[in-house]
This record gives sequence, C-alpha cells and structure tokens, in this order.
Amino acid sequence: MDDILIQGLAFQNEIRFFAAYTRETVEDARRIHYTSPVCTAALGRLLTAGAMMGAMCKNEKDLITLKIDGDGPISGITVTANPKAQVKGILYRNDIDLPLRSDNHLDVGTAVGKGTLSVIKDIGLREPYIGQVDLVSGEIAEDLTYYFAESEQTPTIVGLGVLVDTDTSVRHAGGFIIQLLPLASEETICELERRISDFHSVTDYLSLGGTPESLMKMLLGDITIERSMPVKYRCDCNRDRVSRALISLGEKELDRMIEENKPVSMHCDFCNKDYVFSPEEIRELKEEA
Ligand code: ZN
Repeated sequence: MDDILIQGLAFQNEIRFFAAYTRETVEDARRIHYTSPVCTAALGRLLTAGAMMGAMCKNEKDLITLKIDGDGPISGITVTANPKAQVKGILYRNDIDLPLRSDNHLDVGTAVGKGTLSVIKDIGLREPYIGQVDLVSGEIAEDLTYYFAESEQTPTIVGLGVLVDTDTSVRHAGGFIIQLLPLASEETICELERRISDFHSVTDYLSLGGTPESLMKMLLGDITIERSMPVKYRCDCNRDRVSRALISLGEKELDRMIEENKPVSMHCDFCNKDYVFSPEEIRELKEEA
C-alpha cells in the first residue's frame, strides 16, 4: 500500500475525519535520521499527525509545526507539514533504547517524558498562531487529543501507530483524527464513543491488512471521502535558501569565513543534506547582500 491520506465526513456530516497510511514516509525519516525503534515510533507518530494536520490547513502556503519538548531521553521532536501532506521532522536524540512496555509496544511515553506540546500555525499573518498544552502521557495521540480539546475547543479522537520490524525498518505506520463538528448531536457523540471504545491499536489493525478507508468505515459506518492525497517525507531546502541563511549570519561572520579561505559546509537537519560553499562563492554572496 502506498502512503495515502483521506479526508471525509460521516454521521450525516456531524463528524469529519482524516486517516493516513504512512509507512514509506516514516521509513524515509528513519533512514535519514538513523533512528532506534522507539525514536522511529515517536518521530513517526508525530509525522503522521503532522501530515493530517497539514491537510487541515486551508491555504496553499500555510505551514504547521508540531513541537514536543519533554524531559524524557528524546528531549524534543519537531515536525513541519504543509497542506499537501508533505512532512519533515527532526529529533534531538535518535539512539534511545528502552525496554518494551508490558503490552509489547514501544515505550514512546517514557522516551518523551513530561513537558509541552506546541502547535504553531503559520497562515500568512504577521505572527503565527501558537497553541501550547502540557503533555498528558507523551504517547503523542493522547497529547494531541488533549490539545484539540483545550486549545481548539474541538472534541477530537486521535489514533497513531508505528510498528517497527525486527530488522528495525518500519513495517506499518498510520493514524486517524476524528472530530465532532459544532452541530453534532448527543446521539452521534454517544454512538461514536461506543464504537471507539472497542478499538485499541492502529498498528494491530494495519497488520491485519486494514487501510485508512476500511478503518474509518469500521469506526464510523457510512462515510463520504471528500479527497485523498499522497503523504510524503519531503524537505524543501535548496541552495538558494541556504545561501540566504548564510547571508543572514551578517557581514562580520562572512568576512571571517572569507579570511579563513576554506570551504564552508551548511547542514540541513531535516534531510541531512550538506551544502558546500567555496570561499569565492562566499565572497559573491557578501557582494549580493
Ligand atoms: Zn533539507
């Protein structure tokens, strides 16, 4: 199954949903960041949520950033997504190794620890919109559920899962976000709670061959899919952007680099690409500035 995101409505348009399959996206992230299994799961869950929250944005140029700061060994994870469900992410530590939880799942909650979840929406205004909540469990799905309730006043159910194979590659990854729309009736709320209460694990479901569409049908009954799109790990860095970052270091710093007369390497943490600038190129950049 290719990585895909679907968006749609259910319960006579009283509920909207996003659901995604993200194995390749999370596997790309694992290869770029050389993550250990629990780090793959933590980053992968946040990337999957990011893809769906990116798809919630209304305008082409909107960007959404999800940032977790925790006192656990991973310490921090940042994911940025655009409305095309293209995502990228970084984490402070990629090599954490923790014992499995008693239910055999990777212990993302302990790896993340206590701290905050911030959602930063850059929607073209002078200041980005920032919502921040305390982490509930560090398991990410629960933390986002709490964020939507507290910060956006939208009753939401979030499910996320990453299954890491014995060779440490990603076997399955995916998730869903189900939201009650403002006019949802009491009956709809009760029925949704009843259906969700029997559901335990996104990865178990995906392991049995389920798809985002079949999962939403199982949880919500009759659904209308409004759109679907691919999900991708994509970094939008390029030489031009890196040049501007170099220029922004200021004349003094550029002079120092020119004086050293050595190539300067600029590293992109999101995709691990290096951009090398010769002393001659730095001189040209300084003249342009
Ligand atoms: Zn990059």
